[in-house]
Amino acid sequence: MTEKGFNLPETRPVPERESSDFHGVEMKVELTNKCKFGRCKFCSPLFRPVVAEAGAEQFLKLFEKDIETYFQQGGRKIILTGGGEPTDDPEKLFGALKIINEKKGNMGVNLELLAIYSNGVNLLSPISEDSPQTFLDKLAEMGVEDINLSISGSTQEEVADISGKAMGDVNFNELIPKIREKGIRVLTRTTLAKGYIDSIDDIKKFVENMSSLGVGIVYFSDLFEVPTRNQETTPGSKKVLQWTDEHRVDFLGLIEDVKNNAEFEFASQSGRHKEQGQTFTFKHKKSGIKVLFGNLTIGEESDVEATYCYVKPDGSMEAHNNARRETDREYVDLERIKEYRPERDDI
Ligand code: SF4
Repeated sequence: MTEKGFNLPETRPVPERESSDFHGVEMKVELTNKCKFGRCKFCSPLFRPVVAEAGAEQFLKLFEKDIETYFQQGGRKIILTGGGEPTDDPEKLFGALKIINEKKGNMGVNLELLAIYSNGVNLLSPISEDSPQTFLDKLAEMGVEDINLSISGSTQEEVADISGKAMGDVNFNELIPKIREKGIRVLTRTTLAKGYIDSIDDIKKFVENMSSLGVGIVYFSDLFEVPTRNQETTPGSKKVLQWTDEHRVDFLGLIEDVKNNAEFEFASQSGRHKEQGQTFTFKHKKSGIKVLFGNLTIGEESDVEATYCYVKPDGSMEAHNNARRETDREYVDLERIKEYRPERDDI
């Protein structure tokens, strides 16, 4: 990253590759910072440290090595995730999937998870102007088994209000059955926020609706906790962080409400990402689907063991979220955020 902008320097140092045991550790691949259509009020990349972005060719060259290291060190779970919206950079997305498929074949690896997070906006659109194939078609063809859809409201109006018009326009009643027809499992990810999905009644309605559409797992997440706050150490947009503070639900209180509700059966509670968060698992009795609730604190991970295998949009790989080291954190004002999210005219 240069002093004033986010362009990569011409001669970039080879990224540090930490030696880690990745057995049971998820590889989270942040392909891109771009998210052309999402306007989520809680978008965490807007308050985490900014990571420079490499072009597709350079990213994929590094990613090939990242995957090899991850597989060699026992990793078997890959999630192509945010930072941004993976489908907004098709060259990186399909290039990464091609590399994963080739490497797993060559190295005799059986993956336990190959999932993609998406805001859903592009999934039924053609992958390019001259192709009839949709993103969904191509993801199915390339072996994606799970699509993790972000839906943080009960109605299209509510989704539009919290995540912007384009996400509000996604017709999930149409999209989810189409994904299921391809044999791909659907997990929904909903950020809990006051005034949106914030009560046991909202949760009951949402789970009922999603299970009827064929969703296999419904995941509700608390807004991220960012405990370290000052001008030197708090990365990203104060405005977005303030929004998360003002809209945080009583997470544990809500878990109690779910535990006490006859429609759900409590199954388990476990630590996630080396106790950086907790996951509460329930069964929705009527449909039998899993309903999960998770929270996560970012920026205070352990130094000594891998929290993730974390691939960043510049192609480098670390064993932690990039918010961990205080020296890597940097307050980013809104003008600079706009350099990597130029489409966000709302911040
Ligand atoms: S879909 Fe929403 S949360 Fe995800 S990257 Fe885009 S704006 Fe952020």
